[in-house]
Amino acid sequence: MIRSITLSIGIALLALGLAAPSAMAQEQVSVPVLCYHRFGPMVPDSMTVTTKNFSDQMQWLKDNGYTVIPLKTLVAYLKGEGPAPAPKSVVITVDDGHKTVFTEMQPIVKKFNIPVTLFLYPSCISNPHAPYAMSWEQLKALQQTGLFDMQGHTFWHPNFKKDKKKMKPEEYAKSVQTQLVKSKNVLEKKLGTKIELLAWPYGIYDDYLESEAQKAGYVMAFSIDRRNAAKDERMMSQPRYLMQNGALPGFIAVVSGHAQAKKGKKSEVAF
Ligand SMILES: [Zn+2]
Repeated sequence: MIRSITLSIGIALLALGLAAPSAMAQEQVSVPVLCYHRFGPMVPDSMTVTTKNFSDQMQWLKDNGYTVIPLKTLVAYLKGEGPAPAPKSVVITVDDGHKTVFTEMQPIVKKFNIPVTLFLYPSCISNPHAPYAMSWEQLKALQQTGLFDMQGHTFWHPNFKKDKKKMKPEEYAKSVQTQLVKSKNVLEKKLGTKIELLAWPYGIYDDYLESEAQKAGYVMAFSIDRRNAAKDERMMSQPRYLMQNGALPGFIAVVSGHAQAKKGKKSEVAF
């Protein structure tokens, strides 16, 4: 009896002690979400980070007490459905489904045992006209590692800004719908998982696109606006950092929150 009372008091104290600081911290938590594209020994274009630099970045996170958390954990928190991530949390995402994710990135992901989210546009997967992209078999193999989660990046990666200018309004509306819904359906069928997160191609979004994405069943969408993701950002355009090749100090500035662009500033990639 005495032992069980002591135990109850202990649990009550523990609960009190834990509840207060976490409730206070909850409102201030923001997390850097990194957006990579391609990897390789060299840097043939602005979207490639060398495999060595990526490995050095993951080593730096490990050595400095950072934790790579699943994107879904952050999404649950941002939606008010999960606890606040611990300080020094980072999320890693990769857009487009380039085959160097399989060949170059995968060994490092396994070595450091980190969760990664891939944003894919299914028209390029297993497409002989898109030899740069992964196959469905490769995606399945990545899924089986338990470290890779797959989400949506529209069907064929359109430039919605250009489409809006050149298409008639009804044509544009139909195209947006197809890009959002067909992508989700194909990925769900081929991968057997729920697709409910979206990355905006080229970082292009607006009020209309955000509301169409919501209607299509996406619960959160991501831009490349170079700030930490946080509860006071829009749920259908949560910021991420576009990662380009560079020395370690630039990476450290990003993950430590010292490279944040002003709130409200939109970033797009031009091609
Ligand atoms: Zn993309």
